[in-house]
Formats: sequence, C-alpha cells, structure tokens
Amino acid sequence: MKITALEWGRVSIPLRTPFKTALRTVASVEDIILRIHTDTEHVGFGEAPPTGVITGDTAEGICGALKNHLAPALLGREVEDFETLMHTVQTALVHNSSAKAAVDMALWDLYGKRYGIPVYKLLGGARNQLVTDLTISVNSPEEMARDARIAIDRGFDCLKMKVGVDPALDVARLAAVRAAVPADTVIRIDANQAWTPREAVRILNGMQEKGLDIELVEQPVKAHDLEGLKYVTQHSYVPVLADEAVFGPEDALRILQLGAADLINIKLMKCGGIHNALKIATLAELYGVQCMIGCMLEGRVAVNAAAHLACARGIVTKVDLDGPMLCASDPVRGGAVFQEKDITLPDAPGLGVTDVEGVIPIDAVRL
Ligand code: MG
Repeated sequence: MKITALEWGRVSIPLRTPFKTALRTVASVEDIILRIHTDTEHVGFGEAPPTGVITGDTAEGICGALKNHLAPALLGREVEDFETLMHTVQTALVHNSSAKAAVDMALWDLYGKRYGIPVYKLLGGARNQLVTDLTISVNSPEEMARDARIAIDRGFDCLKMKVGVDPALDVARLAAVRAAVPADTVIRIDANQAWTPREAVRILNGMQEKGLDIELVEQPVKAHDLEGLKYVTQHSYVPVLADEAVFGPEDALRILQLGAADLINIKLMKCGGIHNALKIATLAELYGVQCMIGCMLEGRVAVNAAAHLACARGIVTKVDLDGPMLCASDPVRGGAVFQEKDITLPDAPGLGVTDVEGVIPIDAVRL
C-alpha cells in the first residue's frame, strides 16, 4: 500500500456554549483535517486542532509542517513499512506535535485498514468501551450548579471543572456544584498552571478540608516547574495529574523518575500521536502510575484515535474525551459512537472513520 498523496483542509465546528479556561475563551473548534491517500481505495484520516496556547501549534504551522516536512518524507513510502514510517514522522522535524499526531493517526488508520482490523485490537486491546467525564464551563456558582445538574440528568457521573483565576470564587463554584450533585459524583479540577506551588497546596488542602472531595487536580503549577509539581504532589491531599508538563515520552520519564506527579495525562496532540502515546503508557506501567487520556478542543477524528489508544492500554484508567460532547454538530462519519458519557468503538478496520464533511481544502502534495 503506497502513499500517493497528503491532502488537508480546514473545518470549523461550533461549540454548544463558549468554553472558558484560565487561559482562553473559545466559541468553536477550528481543525485541520488530513487525508492520506494510497494506491488502494483506502484513505487514512487525521486531525490536528491548532491549540497555540498549549502546544504552540498554529494552523499555519501545522500546514507548513505537513507541506514542507512530513509530506515529502512520506510520499511514495509503503504503509507496510510501518515501524520505519513511525520513526520518520517523529524525526521529520522537531516539535510540531499536532501535525505529527495527525499524520501518525492517519497512518495507524491505514495500517488497520490494510489488515482489516480495528486499531485498538491491533494494539491488543480487549475493551471497546470507555466512560468519559464532562467539563463544566467556568461561570457563576449558580450557573455551574445548574449545568452540573443537567450533566447528571444526562447520565454523567464524573465532572471536570476549570479553576485557577480566583481561589475564593473557585471554592464557591465547587461548593455549589458539590451540593447540587449526588454524593458519589466524581469531581476533578484543572488549574491549567495557574498557581505557585505553595498556593496550590494551600488552596487544594483548603478545598478538601471544606469537604469538596476532589478526585484529582490537573497541572496546578507552571509546566516547566517539575520541582514545584513534586512539592504539590508531596504536600497536597489531592492527587496531582501532570498535563502541560508532559508532552513526549522524555517528559513522562523525567516526571516518573522524580516522582513529580501521581498521574499522567496523555494527549495525542502533545506527544505526537499513538506511537509516542504507547511509549508513555509503557513507562507509566513500569512505574505503576495511572494515566488519563485527554484531548484538546478537537473533533471526533482525533478523539476517536485517542479512544482506540485508551482501549488498548489498561494503565489508562481515567478518560477526559468530552471534546465531541461539547460540539453543536459533528462533521465526522464513522468512528467511535459518543452517547453522553459512553464511548463505544465499532468493529470497523483502522480507526473506523469513513469521511469528514464540510472540509475547506487548503493544500495537497501528490506523487
Ligand atoms: Mg488539563
């Protein structure tokens, strides 16, 4: 199966409601959709959301990486030469993890289609179902309590809340949500690097002393501050999950060696795709550290690829793949079925995606 063309375009998916974090407010998912064509009828699908504030990847940067580095390295190559192709993707240029992730997942899609097997089975996965949390957007305590109740009524039993701008208001929001949901509802929080290490410990322990019962906190301190992250991990009552601090396997190894976090968040857009995500999962297994599978604000091509990875590795015990649930429409055909909190992978070959509608072409490179 020879790679004959890479073609990419832009798709815009409106969100149900604007998504607010400590870093930004977003009204729609703006995505780059990649198709890798072959000399067979099979097409591999990939996706890269430009999330400059987290990955540094912009739409223009993703397109440039595809056109000038990744496409020339892949055209004419055989998909069966898979392990070497994976190496090519990661070494074609430095950084640019989102563009690499799009190419990586499109190649996994093709490899699975080539042999007629779903990617999660190709990776040895036995389960084909996941249960995701849902992020409650940052608003007034009353609005968040109302949104949390709506989520519970929809069947969600695990809620994620963004915190980090105003500690007193965060506590008020969490208390309002905690009071509005059943006692066994899991509440996890994400500070997106907002605190200093000392602030984080004070705020997190204060939350637990108030009975807010927080399951875990994502990235309480700056991404580069591993010593600070370790300080929080050692002194906080709330388990700490490293997110922005872990891009590739090298970052994961450093954090595991330091004991800087209790948990690791794997996102394909940070690590450059399934190939590196598997390495992180293996490292985490060695250290007995459970992983979360997460996503950016992204569509169902990439989230679907993340679901395949998660179904393949038991060390991935926490699922934060609510991107498609936050979207008002879905241009993706085939792939994982998202039914409120339940994600189910079909038995279709590869990643199972058959088309993405409404893609506005940007560029293509052909043999
Ligand atoms: Mg996070």
